[in-house]
Amino acid sequence: MSSEIPFIRPTFPSPEAVAAAYAEVVEANWFTNFGPQERRFAGAVGSYLGDGLHVATFANGTLALLAAVQCVFGRGDGTQHLLVPSFTFAAAPQAAVWCGYRPAWCDVDPETWQPDVASARRVLATHGDQVAGIVMANVFGVGDPRIADWEALAAEHRLPMVIDSAAGFGSSYSRDEHVGGRGTCEIFSFHATKPFAIGEGGALVTRDPDLARAAQEFQNFGFDASRQSQVLGLNGKLQELNAAIGLAQLDGFDERLAGRRRVFDAYREALEPSGLTFQPNAELSSLCFAAAVTPTAAQRDELLARWQAAGIQVRAYYNPPVHRQPLFAGTSSVSADLAVTDDIAARIVSLPVHDAMSPGDVARVTGIATVARGGDRT
Ligand SMILES: *Cc1c(COP(=O)(O)O)cnc(C)c1O
Repeated sequence: MSSEIPFIRPTFPSPEAVAAAYAEVVEANWFTNFGPQERRFAGAVGSYLGDGLHVATFANGTLALLAAVQCVFGRGDGTQHLLVPSFTFAAAPQAAVWCGYRPAWCDVDPETWQPDVASARRVLATHGDQVAGIVMANVFGVGDPRIADWEALAAEHRLPMVIDSAAGFGSSYSRDEHVGGRGTCEIFSFHATKPFAIGEGGALVTRDPDLARAAQEFQNFGFDASRQSQVLGLNGKLQELNAAIGLAQLDGFDERLAGRRRVFDAYREALEPSGLTFQPNAELSSLCFAAAVTPTAAQRDELLARWQAAGIQVRAYYNPPVHRQPLFAGTSSVSADLAVTDDIAARIVSLPVHDAMSPGDVARVTGIATVARGGDRT
């Protein structure tokens, strides 16, 4: 019996690669609170992503989302809504609720599975007076090829737009534009399960220096330079050691992404003829995993069972979508029809992508689906 193929196989720098930085941290006796490692890492993240970007690092992506929602929209009084997709990870609607808003769900586009502009437009046409802003998402960290349409909608309605790009550090909207510089700000997670991993960590990235400063105050008890609380804040600071790991992770990151994209290309080549459809623009993404839809929900369930029986860890993100999870079920009357979300959630599969996945492991994953199709024909 061959060994289990894990869903996620994180790559971390060797102990030797961070030993010198750890020695510096101990020598400086500076472990957190915007020390030299964190300052360097914030700068390096900005330079990696593009020109003119300001970066506030965070202890994790969820705190970066909380900071974004509070600093961009202000605190809600529990009556106003934020437009948010249901086909995403629960952290974005959770952040909305923490900051005093209700989620107003929008549907996803049937081709890209990204938040659907037309669906959002319908919600704004009927309930615009109850919507204070937009929290859109680059689904699975894949840059939405229609991001400009979202920006146009936000501008038309004079609504700020936070983008949850948590899994998408290293992804691109197009050949020459990294994810990170769109909307009012974009959010990243550097959790151990993401392609760019430092353990726990995150960042808020924006073209607005005042927003980056506000995000830093938010994560430091709402203190301004006089160390007095000016706004409601919390402790969301990134530790020096995690920042040092991040600096080491940037070394060779693009080569690791190229390895992940080769796995994706192999999946697509082998599985598209078997009827699986992969997400547009995923070939330009950092590929936290490879998402595909089957023609029918029954085929999805059958395939998931086959992979699992063969010791291949697969998932079905985001199923159930957030609006079907107990906390959120039935919370919003100000929502779009979510038929596409429900349909995609019923047909989606998430396949493992590792930095240096062996051709043998790739073949084990694709072999199962090809066998399933062969079975259908006979
Ligand atoms: C991972 C993820 C988060 C949460 O980030 P953490 O760093 O784990 O807090 C939020 N949103 C999306 C879409 C994610 O994939």
